[in-house]
Amino acid sequence: MKEGNGLRPELTWHSISSKITLEKLQTSTSGLSQHEAEKRLNSHGPNCLPQADKRSAFMRFLLQFNNILIYVLMGSAVITAFLSHWIDTGVILAVVVVNAIIGFIQEGKAEKAMDAIRHMLAPQANVIRGGERITIDGKHLVSGDIVLLEAGDKVPADIRLLTAHGMSAQEAILTGESVPVEKHTQPVAENAPLGDRSCMAFSGTLVTNGQCKGVVVTTGLGTEIGRISDLLSEVETLSTPLVEQMGMFAKWLTMLILVIAVILLTFGYFVAHYEFTEMFMAVVGLSVAAIPEGLPAVLTITLAIGVQAMARRNAIVRRLPAIETLGALSVICTDKTGTLTRNEMMVTSVLTHQHLFNLEGNSYEPRGALMLDDAHVSPAEHSVLEELARAATLCNDAALREHEGVWMVEGDPMEGALLAFSGKMDINIRHEQAKWTRTDAIPFDAKHRFMATLNHDHEHHACVFIKGAPEQLLSMCKNQRGANGEIEPLDTHYWNSQAEAIAVLGQRVLAFAVKPVQPSETILEYSDVEDSLTLLGMVGMIDPPRSEAIAAVAECISAGIRVKMITGDHTKTAAAIGKQIGLQSTEKVLTGADLDGLDDAALKHAVLECDIFARTSPEHKLRLVMALQAHGMTVAMTGDGVNDAPALKRADAGIAMGQKGSEAAKEAAELVLADDNFASIVAAVREGRTVYDNLKKVISWTLPTNAGEAMTIVIALLLGMTLPITPVQILWVNLITAITLGIALAFEPTEENTMRRPPRTRNEPLLNGGLVWHIVLVSFLFLCGVFGIYHYAMDQGYTVELARTIALNTLVVMETFHLFFIRNIYGTSLTWKAIRGTKVVWSVVALVTAAQFAITYFPPLQAVFATAPIPFLDGLLIICVGVALFTIIELEKQIRLAFRRMKEPVV
Ligand code: ADP
Ligand code: MG
Repeated sequence: MKEGNGLRPELTWHSISSKITLEKLQTSTSGLSQHEAEKRLNSHGPNCLPQADKRSAFMRFLLQFNNILIYVLMGSAVITAFLSHWIDTGVILAVVVVNAIIGFIQEGKAEKAMDAIRHMLAPQANVIRGGERITIDGKHLVSGDIVLLEAGDKVPADIRLLTAHGMSAQEAILTGESVPVEKHTQPVAENAPLGDRSCMAFSGTLVTNGQCKGVVVTTGLGTEIGRISDLLSEVETLSTPLVEQMGMFAKWLTMLILVIAVILLTFGYFVAHYEFTEMFMAVVGLSVAAIPEGLPAVLTITLAIGVQAMARRNAIVRRLPAIETLGALSVICTDKTGTLTRNEMMVTSVLTHQHLFNLEGNSYEPRGALMLDDAHVSPAEHSVLEELARAATLCNDAALREHEGVWMVEGDPMEGALLAFSGKMDINIRHEQAKWTRTDAIPFDAKHRFMATLNHDHEHHACVFIKGAPEQLLSMCKNQRGANGEIEPLDTHYWNSQAEAIAVLGQRVLAFAVKPVQPSETILEYSDVEDSLTLLGMVGMIDPPRSEAIAAVAECISAGIRVKMITGDHTKTAAAIGKQIGLQSTEKVLTGADLDGLDDAALKHAVLECDIFARTSPEHKLRLVMALQAHGMTVAMTGDGVNDAPALKRADAGIAMGQKGSEAAKEAAELVLADDNFASIVAAVREGRTVYDNLKKVISWTLPTNAGEAMTIVIALLLGMTLPITPVQILWVNLITAITLGIALAFEPTEENTMRRPPRTRNEPLLNGGLVWHIVLVSFLFLCGVFGIYHYAMDQGYTVELARTIALNTLVVMETFHLFFIRNIYGTSLTWKAIRGTKVVWSVVALVTAAQFAITYFPPLQAVFATAPIPFLDGLLIICVGVALFTIIELEKQIRLAFRRMKEPVV
């Protein structure tokens, strides 16, 4: 890399002080004005890297021809042309072209679906503009913007740090070094290598620890990552294990069929002495009939439709195989706050060393009455409340904003609720924040469960303010604040029992403490807050459960999916919420400490009986996932922080929160929830099951159809009969049904009882006994139908042309009835809903019918395909054959279903 190159002055941001950096960029710590930011965006362009070049439409079209079957067909076209069978050549070429067009359109649709989703995952950035903290699209960052970063964030541009607290970043994508490097704000030598520029945070790297504030120095292609790789986005192929398995299967099947075809050709020509052209065409017809050429494309479109359906339900699939996994989930481990609950917090209980107050109010509005024993009181009457509110204001990273009378939070909703609480205590938030400057902080970490800030006022006072989980803070406190500001020894018993009483109500309890320090101290260490703090008081926050989450939990239970709640919150709070949300076993709660006391074998046992895990840290999630997997369960795990990443990766389906989740969690996850809502997970499971069913339906419809068509030709050849359907006619059937009937199944809606079935076993092979039996049964019935009606027609003294036309139509009618059967593989097809079908189904049926009428009655097509018009009564007979087929397979299914039900326990 050309470092220190005078032509690139921007390379030296790391060697100048932060003050000069701000001056050079014509900005300040309160950020750019919105107007200025827009101006810069217009002149510098958006902060993004160019997308990898997509294959051109023309290339994609050409690639449709890259397929063994197409080669076979094109070879046949050449040979038939050579033999001057122009009609055959024309039909074969038509099949080739139409196939390519369908494949092309479907692939385009699928790619569009993926693109739309990629767009939904666009990164965001927290910036300060015009003194206000706001969240913007990462693309809209400009140089001079002030950016806030915390653990788990992906750095959105190249940034010169202004403040940094315990910050480190993982810069492997730039330097190859996977160990995180610490970050500071001091300038470094001008020729320092990239990895040593510790006052810079580089675009695309990951913040692993701490927090920082910095100024954007370059964006887009100007960033370090922009320089080394202008093509970031990898092109994802639309596939899942099942689809790949089918692709392989189709390939082998094709080879097998080609071998059979060659053998037949040899046998027919040399042994049975058929005419070569006739034999050749029969073999081509056989190949086309037997090879499931349309299958991969239909499977792909089924997946694309599933991806879109999930996205509509706020579940964004990052890795496609997750679609299949979601359908097979047997246990979902979920966070509590924000996923099961609304994450719209409000402080309603305030506890001091003497009193338990109630606080009224409305969402985040910083106004509301303080009540003590059902009577209004003024905060001024209790001096400790002011100090409590000050701690809540200063030990806080959020901001409240009013917009048309609605109060909103920027940042953590819990901290927003604390600001609203301070407002209700008559604290002037802005005034207080301006008065006390924060010189250092220990950010919140789910592991130690507290946060501390060191603040200095202008009168040479310095204080550490700490907030955190009650148990944690009590262990760090020696004293408590008394009624008149005096210091009393800590009454641990009082606080513990009171905190528990608040938690039992389902409230999240948070404690506050303070410690005055020397004004000369500007650095905060863990050892400064380990003990000797003074407890100020506690607050209890309500965070009501989401009503849709309650319904979703019930749906999971009926679908045989266990729901487990894993939270960092208090045991009692967790149990109360667990009850409200309808978890199955709420009596027993295991804490993180309990889990630490269990070895893997004991945990494996315990994990089945307990649905609530409280006071856990992210490391526990990994152990829980592994314990559940040890039972052979398919596990989903939700997460939002950096430390959740290992558990998300390990889980069968890692699910990250789209709103409060960190970039690190999103990158580790298979699925991202746009609305952080548990109900969206269940919606995704439902879609996952639907997609899997539809893949299965497509396959279960296609394979017997192909087998039936192929067997018709093979049997006729082997028995030395006239073909009941000519090869060109077989090409026609394939062409018409591939465009219509097969694709219809990709659009099938969720079957009625989808979420009342237990999850399917993972890795269940698709080609199982049931499917093989179905293929055998249906292709046998197809054979009976085609040969039966052909013989009937010949017996009637019809011409061969007419007999063949009748057989051809019978085949298509049977395929259509088979389609109606396949639509309901788990229940009866004899409901009004099943018969009414869907728009897609009836459109394709209409299309097929029109096409069949055309080939039967339209003279030019009659000439090409050697067909003859069918008399009305025979038309009815054809329909009857379809009905008969449907009746037989439906009866067979009902018998199997009844048999299965008998084996199930009666509840
Ligand atoms: P959850 O699983 O409910 O999201 P967290 O791990 O976020 O739980 O939080 C666990 C506990 O840590 C909370 O119950 C609270 O007591 C404390 N806590 C959460 N956020 C903060 C914060 N920003 N500052 C201090 N303490 C916090
Ligand atoms: Mg949390």
